[in-house]
Amino acid sequence: ASGVPGGSDVGSQKDRVVSEEEWLRKWETGNVGFHKERGHPLLQKYLDVLLNGRTGLRIFFPLCGKAVEMKWLADMGHSVVGVEVSEQALREFFAEHGLQYREEPVPEISGAKNASGNISLYCCSIYSLSSSIVGKFDGVWDRGALVAVNPRDRQRYASLMVTLMEKNSSYLLVTVSYDPNKHKGPPFYVPESEIKSLFGNHFEIKCLQKVDDFSDKHRQWGLDYFLEVLYVLKFL
Ligand code: SAH
Repeated sequence: ASGVPGGSDVGSQKDRVVSEEEWLRKWETGNVGFHKERGHPLLQKYLDVLLNGRTGLRIFFPLCGKAVEMKWLADMGHSVVGVEVSEQALREFFAEHGLQYREEPVPEISGAKNASGNISLYCCSIYSLSSSIVGKFDGVWDRGALVAVNPRDRQRYASLMVTLMEKNSSYLLVTVSYDPNKHKGPPFYVPESEIKSLFGNHFEIKCLQKVDDFSDKHRQWGLDYFLEVLYVLKFL
């Protein structure tokens, strides 16, 4: 039957492309229902899995938006790096937390800017980054990132993430699960089988929790179930 999660029923989404301009427009028009003002409960709950008792980590937020968890981790003494195409998102992040920052061009990436205080945010596409520009990370918080990447770019995204990880680092990944024939995304449905094929060669993968996150928003999208699925990937 179609609609069985984990099958090959992602066909309806695999060719969908959301352009950079569309993302910028979402920010301009305030169409950012994905933003969680109070942060994500799963990061709070599984923070120890990410940190593993370590202090002073370098933590990466791919496709960061204005995620408030960047402030949480910076306040704990970690060094946070994010990347986001929308300059407006980054300005809002610093403004909403009353943080000072300075802006500098990134010599290696034409048109890119880096805004930094104790949190360093790159304004460019993630595909422009490399470990020679941003270094490697001890931890990753990926929420609204892999699931926002265009389905045809997932392999490229995963391969890049592998190059940005230190040995023994932890990567917390939040995906979403719903019937992809009923909503075009983003967020896109990424089945567990695909997580395994994208990351299985480099990471040990464990599913930590599935949470029912169904709300009126999802009902309006035409869905009848919506789950968040949290994985921890240990870089081998
Ligand atoms: N992780 C954030 C934002 C999720 S929405 C959160 O949880 O709130 C996805 C974000 O990725 C948007 O802000 C969009 O502007 C940004 N984005 C989309 N494609 C990108 C790319 N190729 N490189 C960097 N940022 C991108």
